Amino acid sequence: MSNHQGLGWAADRVPSTRRAWVEVDLGAIRRNVQAIRRLLRPSTQFMSVVKADGYGHGAVAVARTALSAGASWLAVATLEEGIQLRQAGIEAPILLFGPTICKKEIEAVAEHRLQPTVCSLDHARRFSEAGLGPIQIHLKVDTGMSRLGVAWQEAQDLLNTIRLLPNVTVASLYSHLATADAADPVTTAQQFERFARLVAMLEKQGTRPPLAHLANSAATLALPETHFDLVRIGLAQYGLYPASHLQEVVVLHPALSVKARIVFIKTVPPGTGVSYGHTFRTGRPTRLATVSIGYGDGIPRALSNRIDFLVRGRRARQVGTITMDQCLIDVTDMPDTFEGEITTLLGQDGDERISVAEWAERLGTIPYEILTVLSPRLPRIFSQD
Ligand SMILES: *Cc1c(COP(=O)(O)O)cnc(C)c1O
Repeated sequence: MSNHQGLGWAADRVPSTRRAWVEVDLGAIRRNVQAIRRLLRPSTQFMSVVKADGYGHGAVAVARTALSAGASWLAVATLEEGIQLRQAGIEAPILLFGPTICKKEIEAVAEHRLQPTVCSLDHARRFSEAGLGPIQIHLKVDTGMSRLGVAWQEAQDLLNTIRLLPNVTVASLYSHLATADAADPVTTAQQFERFARLVAMLEKQGTRPPLAHLANSAATLALPETHFDLVRIGLAQYGLYPASHLQEVVVLHPALSVKARIVFIKTVPPGTGVSYGHTFRTGRPTRLATVSIGYGDGIPRALSNRIDFLVRGRRARQVGTITMDQCLIDVTDMPDTFEGEITTLLGQDGDERISVAEWAERLGTIPYEILTVLSPRLPRIFSQD
């Protein structure tokens, strides 16, 4: 449905006091999880990755939606992110990607039944020696990312040692791919070979942990052989593609929109400098609309003069430097725009869409960064359809 009143589908849900906000379509997330699951064997589990507040979408709402759509695991990066899910009453198993080192962290992991990642005997011992009951731990293996994890050549010996420790159980063995989003398959193939060989060796030895997992979104879409027992899905469940060549594999629906209100409109003569530094100067009599969103809300200042906003399903150029709380758009060709009208920075309006990928490309970054810098100052407003 188009938006010729400038109100948008969530107008009834958006209090008129809102200056700027994020809309999250949980129905899109549900459909994305279901579509990705159809790419998996029935026995392969879906881990919904909701770190960084669900990639800016709201971790608790995303987790609940993904679980109801068939995910059976959740993953977060930090202890606080895991506790937030437990405090919301979520009971699903939660993997903690980041290691937990100090005693207080270890106690909190146990108290909230989070499942930590360990990368060394020392990490595992800390949990064992805390004596807090059987803690499910996940052994991370470095097969080529060179970030976290025991070297793949040492993983078998380490696992055999950890298996003898009291109070810990190895629930999974996992590794992370460094270049799964690249068209070049060589590095991924090497990491896959190392991981697959390790898993086969442990199987033969009779010590394979119940779960082995390797794939992120990109590998899940591109390489079915990397699925093993579970896939760890972040970006794709939010409806975005880790690389454009993966669009053929599955149809995904972006769940997030960013909207803000026009709060002031005036017409200025040609030659008028606009905003800090006068990085834009008008070339004609120009109707300028001030929109109440800025870099303090997570709109990258480096996008100044480089993006469009949607107004009534049409693109309006953003002009002048984006400031902390406001920025300007040129609505000269949209004479009926009014103060209080809603504009779309990211998302769909009528037949036009501005994608996270478009911003990422202009900024020389990846969609992940655009999503995760959206500020908590923007309230998240959820729809279920
Ligand atoms: C963030 C993360 C993922 C999810 O990656 P996507 O590309 O968003 O699917 C998977 N595994 C680990 C270890 C991660 O840190």
